[in-house]
Amino acid sequence: MNKKLVSILILGVISFMLALPVSASQNVSEGIQPRVQECGRCGKMSLHVVKCGSRTSTAEVDCGHGLPFGSDAVKKTYTIYQYKCSNCAYGSSTWEKCTNTEIKCGGYYPN
Ligand SMILES: [Zn+2]
Ligand SMILES: [Zn+2]
Repeated sequence: MNKKLVSILILGVISFMLALPVSASQNVSEGIQPRVQECGRCGKMSLHVVKCGSRTSTAEVDCGHGLPFGSDAVKKTYTIYQYKCSNCAYGSSTWEKCTNTEIKCGGYYPN
């Protein structure tokens, strides 16, 4: 009876050890964070990612189309995200992600 119990225990430990690295590597390869997280302030699972705005930035860069003069206007749109708690109205610091890039070519050949 005791011997059977020990072997079951060992089997359980081995399968646990085998399963652990697999699930850990899956999480890393997917790189997806859970949509709902625990709120650091109230401790409830009610922390959601929300979009809280967007901004655009423009920059002049050398023409990337092989034209010798002029420059390209690169307009990037960033979406701003934030963690917000629906229980206690906590809001985390924000981060942004580039969601659109528009390039307007201003390059030209000399006359
Ligand atoms: Zn909260
Ligand atoms: Zn160009």
